[in-house]
Amino acid sequence: MKKKNTIPLIISSVAGAFAAVWIIFGLSNLNSAKRENAEVIETQAPVKNIIFLIGDGMGLVQVNAAMLSHAEPLAIERAQFVGLQKTYSATNKVTDSAASGTALATGTKTYNGAIGVGPDTARLTSVLEKAAAKGLSTGLVATYRITHATPAAFIGHVPHRDMEEQIATDFLKTDITLFIGGGRNQFEQRRDGQNLSDSLKAKGYQVVYTPEALDSIESGKVAALLADSHLPDILGGRDSLYLSTSTAKALDILSQNDNGFFLMIEGSMIDGGGHDNNIDKVIAEALDFDRAVAEAFDFADRHPGTLVVVTADHETGGLTLPENGNGVEYLFSTGNHTGSMVPVYSYGAYAGCFTGIMENTDIPTRMAELLGL
Ligand SMILES: [Zn+2]
Repeated sequence: MKKKNTIPLIISSVAGAFAAVWIIFGLSNLNSAKRENAEVIETQAPVKNIIFLIGDGMGLVQVNAAMLSHAEPLAIERAQFVGLQKTYSATNKVTDSAASGTALATGTKTYNGAIGVGPDTARLTSVLEKAAAKGLSTGLVATYRITHATPAAFIGHVPHRDMEEQIATDFLKTDITLFIGGGRNQFEQRRDGQNLSDSLKAKGYQVVYTPEALDSIESGKVAALLADSHLPDILGGRDSLYLSTSTAKALDILSQNDNGFFLMIEGSMIDGGGHDNNIDKVIAEALDFDRAVAEAFDFADRHPGTLVVVTADHETGGLTLPENGNGVEYLFSTGNHTGSMVPVYSYGAYAGCFTGIMENTDIPTRMAELLGL
């Protein structure tokens, strides 16, 4: 792709200077910097669409391991800007996916276990909810249950992440356009006997249970519940095109709204590979996630005004790559999360707003400002 060499060069030389300006003047000057930036980069369209990709547990070394396993460059290497974010939660130096998901969704650090609520359990508002309220299309795509911590943080509001049946009811309280993932049981096999899929249909959703049925949908509101619980992992037989195909379908549907859209895509199972200290799983899931990144970057190439941000919620496994005499070894230092900073890759409109060392909470705050929410 010729563009991948020319566009970053042009934008990085001009916008890179502006990234430095923003660091000096701070986020409060984002709007004025945006105006100045617009004068300099006349070709840069204002942000209309945001695609936010979160690789759960995907630290720098997980990306590095995927690169080493792959003959071709990864899509993520096309990123025009790179930054770092601090993942600690309000209560712990090492976060869980609920607190970090809430930080990345709402711009507020909270306690480990919290979904969409602050340290005082007061309800927060996510960038997805703000976008939906302003008439943008919105979507969530994941490989775990759609009620699991990371996607849940963008739409749910419960004091603890285990309250997934309650999180499922929150999908009926926001006018989300589309969601694709596992978790059918949380909607249909509930302790309260309700069938939330019936409620979704009454609200105009097309509820589907197979990738084939999802593929046949061209427009409108969609609830795709493609597994009773999580989908299988790649090594366990998940279609290696599931995440990228779901991403492409989501982009097809969401981009029909002239107001723009906000879409969050989670590569959910890189984290599981880290917990299991299973490098093959980490790499397979990271490469799968990278195929979704390729879809997002390609969409941004075709649709000026699209910003893509790729990051993680935290690192899992404490992965390192020591030399072992014959090559590289994949060494995990823990079966849990770590407090390492994680990389932030950005591409497209105003991608230069996501450089330097950030708090995780800076990311949705900047996204909401760029979308004018
Ligand atoms: Zn985890």
